[in-house]
Amino acid sequence: MSEFRQNSVTKEWVIIAPERAKRPDQWKHERPARDPLPPYRDGCPFCPGHEEMTPPATYSVQTDDAWSLRVVPNKFAALAPTRTPTRHAEGPFLQADGFGIAEVVIESPRHDESLSTLPVETIEQVLRAFKLRHVAMAADPRISLVTIFRNHGPLAGTSLEHPHSQIIATPIVPPHVRDPWREAQEHYDTFGTCAYCELLRAEIKQEARVIGETDHFVAFCPWSSKTPFEVRVFPRRHHASYTWSHDSELYDLAYLLKDALERLRVGLGNPDYNLLIRSAASGDEDARHLHWYLVIVPKLSTTAGFEMGTGIYINPTAPEVAAEFLRKVNLSEA
Ligand SMILES: [Zn+2]
Ligand SMILES: [Zn+2]
Repeated sequence: MSEFRQNSVTKEWVIIAPERAKRPDQWKHERPARDPLPPYRDGCPFCPGHEEMTPPATYSVQTDDAWSLRVVPNKFAALAPTRTPTRHAEGPFLQADGFGIAEVVIESPRHDESLSTLPVETIEQVLRAFKLRHVAMAADPRISLVTIFRNHGPLAGTSLEHPHSQIIATPIVPPHVRDPWREAQEHYDTFGTCAYCELLRAEIKQEARVIGETDHFVAFCPWSSKTPFEVRVFPRRHHASYTWSHDSELYDLAYLLKDALERLRVGLGNPDYNLLIRSAASGDEDARHLHWYLVIVPKLSTTAGFEMGTGIYINPTAPEVAAEFLRKVNLSEA
């Protein structure tokens, strides 16, 4: 039996339609096998020795003579920091030059690594780089929103194999981001509580969709998941901005993130995915109604006309089923 479910924060609806489902392990067999990557590749702009192929690093981590992480401006970015964010309107036609800051976080010198295969300490280093660059970009008064994301594999929108994430800072906060926050503000005005904190408490209490917990974070497949095997990682501590995370929390997050990514990789056969950190806009870092989180969306299904027409996603894998499957993945087989 299919059912409608509503996201308690955004008020968006999904349809959970398990009769269309395959068994969870059948998702794995649809993935074409991939050739193993070499540890180093000639012509890769992110491999060691090719540093001149990227602009100079804005941040790097050095160990002895070699770097273990580099953050560089994105050479092929759609937005440039040298432009001006001034807006001009001619009647209904509003326009501004393409001002923004776009950087790439090269997560490892190894071409053949991925976020899920890196040691927890290295993932923590990546998460710290996210935080430091987010803080630096948000310090520019022209910047309103910093978006940190990772595209893994061609279906997720990356053509570069070398492990990397991206950070893009924009002078605008679009409705896609702002609208759910307005709902959360309304919830706070009505009930005096953070809607995300309430959602997290309810997910912990029901347990069925939780896939992992640490002192500071909880990973779960949300009640109103739009797509199969969507995973969200919420901080237990109420916090609107990722930039306010403590260093001790980042190690904890690295541990849980690696665990979730490994379960997806081993259980589903290294699916392509998008990873995103949703964090408050500039000026809202201490908002009581906002709560930052991390989301991983494996690219297992495609959206079509109904989703485009309604914003209602049809998800064939109930998140309870996805969570149970991910909890049972045997990571020692990896
Ligand atoms: Zn490379
Ligand atoms: Zn909260």
